[in-house]
This record gives sequence, structure tokens and C-alpha cells, in this order.
Amino acid sequence: MTTWAQRDDHPVVLVTLDGLGDRPCRSLGGRTPSEVARTPVLDELTRRGAGGVHVPFGPGWATSSERSHWAMFGMGSVAFPGRAALELLGIGGHPPRSTPMWHLAIRRGERSNRADGAMMITGRLGREQHDVSAIAGAVLADYCASIRIDDIEFEIVALRVGEWVLIAHGAMSHEISDTDPLFDNRHPWMRPLPIREAIEAGGAREVQAMRVSNAMEQFLLGAHDALRRSGIDYDVPTTKWASWIDGGASFADEVGVTGAMVTSSALYRGLARYLGMIEVDVSAPAGDLALGLSDRVAAAVSLIDDNARNDNGRIDFVHVHTKAPDEAGHTKDPAAKIAAIEACDVALTALVDRLDRDEFVLAVTGDHATPSETLLLHSGDPTPFIVAGPDVRVDDVDAFGETALLSGSLGRLRADDIAPLLHSLARRPFFIGHRPGAGISAALPDTPAAMPPGSRDFPPVPPPTYEESHA
Ligand SMILES: [Zn+2]
Repeated sequence: MTTWAQRDDHPVVLVTLDGLGDRPCRSLGGRTPSEVARTPVLDELTRRGAGGVHVPFGPGWATSSERSHWAMFGMGSVAFPGRAALELLGIGGHPPRSTPMWHLAIRRGERSNRADGAMMITGRLGREQHDVSAIAGAVLADYCASIRIDDIEFEIVALRVGEWVLIAHGAMSHEISDTDPLFDNRHPWMRPLPIREAIEAGGAREVQAMRVSNAMEQFLLGAHDALRRSGIDYDVPTTKWASWIDGGASFADEVGVTGAMVTSSALYRGLARYLGMIEVDVSAPAGDLALGLSDRVAAAVSLIDDNARNDNGRIDFVHVHTKAPDEAGHTKDPAAKIAAIEACDVALTALVDRLDRDEFVLAVTGDHATPSETLLLHSGDPTPFIVAGPDVRVDDVDAFGETALLSGSLGRLRADDIAPLLHSLARRPFFIGHRPGAGISAALPDTPAAMPPGSRDFPPVPPPTYEESHA
């Protein structure tokens, strides 16, 4: 008889080095920071495992971290709720259901001499400008309390310095475009438009998207006026990360196993909370180039050790994240990114040292590329991907970096490929043709619904006899 004790599958540890990928840098002689960095630990992992490159949404498509993580986790076929809602959850807030939310920030701007008089963004509030943020927060809260646009009432909840979550009570749609240019050097403060999907759907969906885009435009123009009158330099309110939560989503249901995240920021805490994952928060100590990765690796190792002691409630997926390479990439100094990657390399020692014990499948990759030499924010360039574990067929790539890993045995992986691949290497692939529950999950589910026990007083009805069924 098969028992739980006979399971031979393994936990998966997925480490994301945020923004790891890059493109060839002129200042590095055409190499990337990963290729130039001294990375003995990642080289060892590459030697002991199989490699490839991660191209989250296909060649050329740049992506944000939240969208690629969502897909990497195995949630790709589930509606993404929006980052503003996740960040609100991550700071302990309670995003209302069926109500649109956005991220709202204040920027400094200047009217251009373009024919359309567009406002160009010329500055963002620094992390130390608490005082300006507090004044702006009070102005915006007063303004929200004073207006109602087309029966929509607005509310702000403070997120970080100069950043809020904007909630539109009574609005029935979040389907409008961003007003935050994101690409400040190219785009102006943008007009909110109903998105094409809503227009093409027609009916109430189109009407509600039109209604909220008009209300948002009036709201932001009024907020701009209120901020300007208060004398604040940062008087351009911008919105992005449209969010909408309906029923929620469960990692255990969608992926099939219990997952845990070792987090250090509101976004990832929110993701864990939204998906019902186990959450261990390990903050980033000041001055650490790897932003606390070694502490988070230790937390991941102890989650796995707890599994060995505890037969119930085993954790089959642990995610560990550091934003260090992405932040370094955004400084546009390849040397800073090299230093961040080298610090991450050291921080991974405890995990790579444990590979000898054949206890888990370990994968390291990035969620996107962050080019460190051009003005690009993120890009769709290939990002290193390596995986090692008891069943991994070792290939002959032996150095970490994009160029070497482009000829790795795993080829090019999309974000959606990562969860099925890792759970398969951990000996629990979903079995196509088998239906152990309502959905199809990235891994063979741990706990499909068991048949309820029959009652003694009302024993199960016996199956029909041959005669009965052919009567
Ligand atoms: Zn970034």
C-alpha cells in the first residue's frame, strides 16, 4: 500500500535575482555584468545543474516584476489582480472587493512648449522627503473628501513616501490606461483612456470604463490644482497599476502544492497574502549589497528543514527574492550591478552547499533583464536560468552568464514554463489526461478532495448489476 511516507518528491527553492539579465555593455567589452562578475557559487551551481535562459514573455517583451513572478509561480492562466491591490495587502491594508484601485504618486512637472501643452515629468519625490509627502497626503485627503464625480468617491491610503493607493468607491471598472508616463524621458503626463478590451466588449463594460476614465481625468486635474495651490513643487498626480479584486486566487489550488515566500517588500508580502502562501518576512539590512539575501536563504533552508520534521503541512515550494541586481541596474552603472551580483553569489552559498544532500530542487534566475548601460527600464533580453537537483540531467555549461547559458540544455524558457518544469524535476509533474480535481495545476496536487466516508446508517448504493444496467 502506498503511504505518505513513501513519497519521494522534493521541495523546490526558486531564487529570483530581480533584474538579473542584461545586454552586452560597451564599457564591459561587450559582456554583461553576470559574465564579468566573479561568481564562484553560481558557477558551481551551473556546473552541477542544467542551464538555459529565461525570456519571460518571449523574445523582446519587457515586463514588470509582478507580472513575470505571477507567471513563474504557475498562475499564468489566472487573472492578475493588479499591483496596487497587492501593495495595499502587503502593508496590512484591506483592498475592497469589486472596487477599482490604482497606485498614485506625486511628481514634479513642467509644461512643455509642445502644441498640446503636455506636462513633462521632471522629478520624483526622494525617499527622505517625508515632510513634502505628509503635506501632499493631507491636501489629497481633503480634496478626496470634498468631491464626488459622477457618483464616484475617492479615497487615498498611504503606501510609501509620495505614494498612495487610490480607491474609487462606486466605480464599476478599473479598465483605464495609466497616467504615469513611467518613461519620463519620452512620454508626458498621460490622459486616462478606457482600454480597448473594454471598448470592444461593448455594453456595460464599455460604459463603465468610459465613466471611470472621465472621472479619473477630472479627479487628477482637480488634485493637480489643489496640490499647486498648497505650494508643493510635486503637484502632478500620476496613476498606474489598475487593480480589481473579485474572488481572489489560491496558490494551493492553482499550483497544487503549498507554497511559501521569504519576502522583504510590500509587493511580495501582498502576493503571498493574496495567494494564501506561507509568508516569512526578512527585511533588508542597510548597507548589504545583496539586500539581505543571505538571511532570506537561511529562512528558506529552515522552512525546508521544518518539512523533514513535520509530516503534515509540508511546503513544496519556497520563493526567495532580492531586488539588489535590479536596483543596481537602474543606477545605470554596470559596475554597481556587477557588485550586486557578486554579493548575491556569496549569499547563495548555504543553498548550493546543501545540494550534496539531494534534498531539494534549486533554481536561480531573474524575473526580467534590467539593462545597466542604456536608458531602458527593463528589457526582454535573455536572463540566466539554472536548476540543480537529484534528477536534473547535468549539461556541459560550466560558467554563469547569458552567453554561456544560451547554449544550455534547457534552451529558452518562458515564465509559464518554469513552475511545471521545476515541479516535474521535483517528481510531481501534473499528469495530462488525469483529472484529480476541478482544475489543471502546474504540479501534481498534494491534496485532491478525498471521497467522503459513507454513513453506517445509509451505506453507499451498490453499483447496478449487469441486468439492471442493460434493462
Ligand atoms: Zn526594475
